[in-house]
Amino acid sequence: MVGINSEQDGNYWRIGAMTTWQDLLETELPGCFDGLKAAARQVGGRQIQNCATIAGNLCNASPAADGVPPLLTLNARVVLQTQTRKRELPLSKFILGNRRTALEAGELLTDILIPKKLGQGRAGFLKLGAREYLVISVVMVAGLLFLDEHGKVRHAHISVGACSETAVSLSELEAELLGRRFSPNLVRSDHFQHLSAIDDHRGTAVYRLDAALTLTRRLLSELTA
Ligand SMILES: Cc1cc2nc3c(=O)[nH]c(=O)nc-3n(C[C@H](O)[C@H](O)[C@H](O)COP(=O)(O)OP(=O)(O)OC[C@H]3O[C@@H](n4cnc5c(N)ncnc54)[C@H](O)[C@@H]3O)c2cc1C
Repeated sequence: MVGINSEQDGNYWRIGAMTTWQDLLETELPGCFDGLKAAARQVGGRQIQNCATIAGNLCNASPAADGVPPLLTLNARVVLQTQTRKRELPLSKFILGNRRTALEAGELLTDILIPKKLGQGRAGFLKLGAREYLVISVVMVAGLLFLDEHGKVRHAHISVGACSETAVSLSELEAELLGRRFSPNLVRSDHFQHLSAIDDHRGTAVYRLDAALTLTRRLLSELTA
């Protein structure tokens, strides 16, 4: 259950439930994992990264879980098992709300599956917190882009965390980017209207949404530079 295996199953990379953030960082993986790796470097400090698991980050179901946005952009699926039963769910259907998951009594999350066809996409992750290091996210954005030979967007997966109970994909923006060369003004505030950010001690809803817009523009600019 430790490590990332690409051989067992031809169509997926399989992240075992006991795989830590540090295990992920030490594994050679294609470009589509760069966003998840960037998140791994920012989960807590080194002590946390050495012992905390990616699966635990999902099962914890915190709105500020740094692993969720990049795994959503990777179309991750989770494998849930009891002693007698096994099922699979898309990550988007696994995390149901703040600290709520689809785990049933007796179930463990045993694997996270990432489709191999995503391979060489360009991926990234940006996190805003109250300070640089060892900090819970106020907002985070993950992106995975595929560009054609002219630099136009072929596919885009963009997900925002800490601005709703669960991380949310920016589906309208993803659709509008298709066939275009990226420019920051293509990202508008109405692309974030379906988020339900809250006011709390880390930031107001207005600040969060404004920061999400800025981080999304910045991340996509970096990925298309
Ligand atoms: C000091 C500190 C800083 C932190 N900073 C961050 C941060 O910056 N970003 C961030 O996202 N998180 C952060 N966290 C939260 C946490 O460390 C991470 O979410 C981590 O990845 C959780 O993994 P874990 O293996 O420790 O899970 P645990 O904390 O052990 O488990 C979390 C929950 O999920 C359940 N669970 C775990 N694994 C499974 C499984 N395979 N199947 C079913 N249920 C399971 C557990 O029973 C528990 O209810 C921080 C925590 C601490 C203490």
